[in-house]
Amino acid sequence: MNNQQKKRIAIFGSTGSVGTQALDVIAANPELFSAEVLTAQQNDDLLIKQALRFQPDIVVIGDESKYQKVKTALLDHPIKVFAGEKALIEVATMDNYDVMMAAIVGFAGLMPTMTAIEHGKTIALANKETLVVAGDIVMRKAVENRAPIIPVDSEHSAIFQCLLGETRNRIEKIILTASGGPFLGKKPNFLVNVKRDHALQHPNWSMGAKISIDSATLMNKGLEMIEARWLFNLTPQQIQVVIHSQSIIHSMVQFEDGSIKAQLGLPDMKLPIQYALGFPMRLPNKLPRYNFSKPDKLTFEEPDIRTFRNLQLAKDALARGGNAGCVLNAANEIAVYAFLKNRIGFLDMTDLIEKTIQKISFVEQPSLEDYFESDGEARNFAASLIKL
Ligand code: NAD
Ligand code: MG
Repeated sequence: MNNQQKKRIAIFGSTGSVGTQALDVIAANPELFSAEVLTAQQNDDLLIKQALRFQPDIVVIGDESKYQKVKTALLDHPIKVFAGEKALIEVATMDNYDVMMAAIVGFAGLMPTMTAIEHGKTIALANKETLVVAGDIVMRKAVENRAPIIPVDSEHSAIFQCLLGETRNRIEKIILTASGGPFLGKKPNFLVNVKRDHALQHPNWSMGAKISIDSATLMNKGLEMIEARWLFNLTPQQIQVVIHSQSIIHSMVQFEDGSIKAQLGLPDMKLPIQYALGFPMRLPNKLPRYNFSKPDKLTFEEPDIRTFRNLQLAKDALARGGNAGCVLNAANEIAVYAFLKNRIGFLDMTDLIEKTIQKISFVEQPSLEDYFESDGEARNFAASLIKL
């Protein structure tokens, strides 16, 4: 394959857990992919290192105070350097890439992703918050602009794979599997004392700080229910969560005949990342394989929603629709930030989100501006409650 036929990848959030693994996939398949855009918020050293190695067309550093350092380090190379939030959106419009790996964390990923969709790009979507905040608008724009969205989240990648060849068949329900996180089986009397470093230790996956905390509170699974609702056009009743602590079955689809399809594999984000980048091709790799001669027990149980109340709050937001997901997400981002800074306890996160949801007015059919407004109001209110 010559250069013209390579898929040109823009990694938004290249220094993160998903971003670095996406670069590993590109490095392992240089004949298929090139990295043309790399962006990072703070980590200038890693961004420079990545740029020197992958020689992209453009790098963007979010924190403008770091622009000079990045620019100077790349002076001898034909790499354009930009800085700031606006640059992220401008670069998303450019025709120097084909596929955006949307791997920024949180609400900050919304506008770059939306801009790429408006320009008809293929989106490999890791940033689930984009759909939690504004899934209705994002999916409508994707259809209007014929921009394919390939999920990177392992559960949604599993469902996407189970649905291939089933376009004419109705989904009865999907079963989202959840590992349960590091505190599976624990009760509030334990959780009240949990600290940041313990909560960051996920048993099966190594991920960024925010999603690791979301996994510990089960908010991650709640966000994933909303993500699935939009990606696969489901009703809330069609989405079930099951705790499967081994993380071997990545999720399942049950059809109208009662038949269930599942996608399995050892838990490694490289797999859904390379699937999304390579789609529709499966790429060979040397990752370890699941061994059926020494199998794990595969277990399933109901989530303990009374203890992990964030999951219930997310289910309520899913059922309510409108700006409820946006408010839930904003309050959760503040809660997780405060917990990571040791400003509030583990269980306080839920109280903060609940109070914010009660306070912020409901908007039934929000515009993009309404989403921005709700996000700002919810952040300010949540921050004021804990004097951030
Ligand atoms: P991370 O914290 O490791 O990396 C986040 C990336 O986003 C970094 O490159 C950072 O520079 C950039 N970033 C942070 N704040 C930004 C801002 N305000 N503006 C612009 N860029 C900013 O996060 P991650 O674990 O890689 O997760 C990324 C996304 O993928 C999240 O939405 C997460 O839910 C989703 N996801 C991650 C995993 C995983 O295994 N890590 C799995 C499934 C889904
Ligand atoms: Mg997931």
